[in-house]
Parts: sequence; structure tokens; C-alpha cells
Amino acid sequence: MYAQGGIASVVTKNDSFQSHISDTLIAGAGLCNEEAVKVLVHEGPDDIKKLIDFGVPFDRDANGDYIVSMEGAHSFKRIMHCNGDATGFNVTKTLVGNVKMHSNITCFENMVLVDILLGDDSAVNGVVLQDNDNNFLAIQSQNVILATGGIGGLYRKSTNSSVATGDGIAAAWRAGAELENMEFVQFHPTALIHPDKNNRYFLISEALRGEGAILRNRKWEPFMKNVHPMADLAPRDIVSRAIVQEMEKYDLPNVYLDITFKSREVLSKRFPMIYNECMKRGIDIASDWIPVIPVQHYFMGGIKTDLNGKTNISGLYSCGESACTGVHGANRLASNSLLECLVFGRRCAQDVNGASKKRSNDMSLAIDVKKESKALDFETIRSNIRYTMTKKGGIVRSMKGLKEALTEIEAYYEQLQRAELRNVYELEKLNIATVSLQILTAAQKRKESVGAHYIKTESET
Ligand SMILES: Cc1cc2nc3c(=O)[nH]c(=O)nc-3n(C[C@H](O)[C@H](O)[C@H](O)COP(=O)(O)OP(=O)(O)OC[C@H]3O[C@@H](n4cnc5c(N)ncnc54)[C@H](O)[C@@H]3O)c2cc1C
Repeated sequence: MYAQGGIASVVTKNDSFQSHISDTLIAGAGLCNEEAVKVLVHEGPDDIKKLIDFGVPFDRDANGDYIVSMEGAHSFKRIMHCNGDATGFNVTKTLVGNVKMHSNITCFENMVLVDILLGDDSAVNGVVLQDNDNNFLAIQSQNVILATGGIGGLYRKSTNSSVATGDGIAAAWRAGAELENMEFVQFHPTALIHPDKNNRYFLISEALRGEGAILRNRKWEPFMKNVHPMADLAPRDIVSRAIVQEMEKYDLPNVYLDITFKSREVLSKRFPMIYNECMKRGIDIASDWIPVIPVQHYFMGGIKTDLNGKTNISGLYSCGESACTGVHGANRLASNSLLECLVFGRRCAQDVNGASKKRSNDMSLAIDVKKESKALDFETIRSNIRYTMTKKGGIVRSMKGLKEALTEIEAYYEQLQRAELRNVYELEKLNIATVSLQILTAAQKRKESVGAHYIKTESET
């Protein structure tokens, strides 16, 4: 819903599949699943056409041709967008509208996944959900697709909605699903310094830097040109770390993004959402530099799937940010994630449609329901885990910090595991602790810095 920049795909004649594949592999720092990347790039354009057929209003120029934009680490302009910077809103609105027109689709809204049901053969046999009044509902099904999104709620500062607490990933893990690439958490270099009332950090899209915006430090210097040959359009992990370094060097709370060389008319038309949101907060991007900081943004890891979204548990699928198809490797190329949702979401559906209809009658919950009824201070636990993850499992990590973080969060995990979790609010804390531990454990195993996983050397600590 919040996606601004758009969807990357090879849609112009001068672009090529090879170029999009190569850009994705370079951003992924050698850890992408190349097969998955090929599927993503080759099948993407047809899925974009499907979105157009569904009625998604991608922006066009005066001749009626689709407009494509540039973003960081892409070699060509290949980002399709809607109403400038409101791509997620328009895609979501169109798809939800389409779903509601189908009488054979039943939507249960405001229901939250609690856990996955397994049958006697350890295959999936449904899910348990809970509504706003804490009523449980068990739904039996031989196939389940988890699409619960990212993990921003594990960190203090994120562009994600606060509901992104890795619930699907935690439930899949409890059921025995394999997780992959859990150490790779992407921090977006440019979010507005102050959060909104829901504590979400407003993203200043990379598309601004694609249009020439420059990051500046307090001396007005365009510091990225000394850091990487692609300067402000370098991969996100490199830009995020360079910003942290500038902030530490000058003891500053932020750096600045300068796009004041573009006219007000161009900015308000190309980036209406960003222009208006900044203006509401007293920042006129046509004349003021935008105060920005790096914040958690995207999760490259998740539930390990094959090219059809299948996990190692029969009948359990995942797609979107909760899944790890391997397309992003150690770092995601900008605007590849919505493309991944389209391509691998469709592949999940095709596989489910071809799957057998065998159903077991047994049902067992992976979550342990025999609990102590000792009251816990859930809010303090959440706050402490988020603080630790930000400080020790964030942009810059050290082996010492990871060890400390693991010890601390393991203790919370033990308490949460023993506690009686009465509602979704309380269960969410167990999910946060579960996924945090998986991230820290994977980070500890990977001793070398690669992509978004940066480990300080002995001399830096
Ligand atoms: C500010 C922002 C800008 C972005 N811009 C871009 C961009 O320009 N291009 C791009 O490619 N990507 C972009 N991304 C990333 C991209 O939007 C996400 O990766 C993508 O939307 C993930 O889709 P999803 O369907 O997997 O998850 P989501 O879109 O996050 O949807 C997950 C859904 O699951 C629900 N859910 C969560 N937990 C539970 C539970 N326990 N029970 C029931 N439901 C649950 C949530 O409420 C939500 O509706 C951006 C992300 C953000 C945050």
C-alpha cells in the first residue's frame, strides 16, 4: 500500500533481460538464486501486462506511452509507477476491487493468523485465526499461502506499518518450515527524520535520487561521490552506511537530501505524495533540503521457497516479503520486490491449482498451549527487543554485539514461550522474539560482511 517508487521490469526496447538480471545479481552481492532471478526478470513483463488488464493506472506520457523511471543500481530506466509516487496504493486498490468482484472468494477481514495447523502426515491442514474480540476460528485447508509481509516491527525505526512483525515467518518456523537468508535486513537510506503518529517513518523514495537528488552533509558536501562510483545511486546498504558514518563524524541526527534544483511544478507533479507530506511537516522540497536518516525498510530473508512458492512442508506456500525465493540475495535491487510479489504470487496460485486435494482429518497446533499464567510486561519486552535489534542487529553489527543481543533476546523468548498468550497483541511479542533470534543467529554464522550484512572488523570495534 505504501510503495512509492514503482515496479521494475524490462518494458522498453533499449533495455534487456540480461541487464535487469545482471543489476539484480550485482545488488544481491553474489548470493542470489540465479534461477529465481531469471524467472523474475523473464516473466515480469507479462505480469505487468496482467496488472494493466486488471486496470492498474500506470503513468503515461502525452503520447500514451508508459513512463519508466530510473532508480538506484539499475542500468536503465525500467520502473513503472502510478500517479507519480503512489504505486502501492493504486495497485492494491485495483487488486482488492477485483477480488471483491469474485463471488467465489471469501474474505475474512481483521482476522489475524495465530498458527498453522498440521495434519497427521505433517502436511498443512489449515490455520487458526483470531478476530478483534479474541475469538478463535480454525479453517481447514490442504493448502495455505503465507503472505504476511515484512519485519519492520522488530526495529525501532522502520518505513513498514507497525503490523509487520514477521507473524507468518514465526508461524512457519514453529510448524517446521525452513528459513533462509535471515541475516539480510535492508535499511533504506532516506526516510524523513520524524515518524508519523503511528510511529511509521515516511519514505523519501530512491526515485528522487534517480531524478538527480543529492545527499549532503552539514558542510553541504555531496559526500556520496567519494564513497562509490555510482555516488548517490549506489546500492542501499552502501548509502545507508555512508550516512551513518557522516552522522557519527559530525555528531548529527541526520543528513540532507537536496532536490531544490528541480522546479516546484516538476516536483509536485512527479512526486505528489512526497511533496505534500513534506509540505504538511513544514518542509518545502522545492526550496528546503530534506532531513533524512536510514531506517529499516525491507527483509531479504524469510520462509525458504522453491520457484513455485512451496516450502519444505507439504501444502505450505509463501510469497511476497515473508518468503525467501532467493531473488534478492544479500540485498534487494530497488523496486524488484513488487515484481517478486507479482511473479511468485502468480506461481504459487498456479501450483496450488494443480495440487492434489488430499486432506487429513487430524489437526495439531505447532504452538504450545499449555502455559503459565504469569503476567508479563509485554510492552517493555517489545521495546527492549526493538532497541537491541536496532543497536546490535542493525546497519552495522559486531560479533560481540550479536552475542550480547542473542543472550538478551533468548531470555525474553524463554519467558514468552512459557507465558499464557491471550491475544494477538501478546502473541505478536513471541513472534518478534522468534524472528529476532533467527536474524541474530544467522548473522552470527556469517562472519564476513556481504550486502546488507555488515560486520565491523576487530580494528573498527
Ligand atoms: C514505504 C515503502 C515503500 C516501498 N516502495 C516500494 C517500491 O517502490 N517498489 C517495490 O518493489 N517495493 C517497495 N516496497 C516494498 C514492498 O512494498 C513490499 O515488499 C511488498 O509490499 C510486500 O508485499 P506483501 O504482500 O508481501 O506484504 P504487505 O504488502 O506488507 O502485506 C502483508 C499483509 O499481511 C497482513 N498481515 C501481517 N501479519 C498478519 C497476521 N498475523 N495475520 C493476518 N494478516 C497479517 C498485513 O496486515 C498486510 O495486509 C516499499 C515498502 C515500503 C514499506
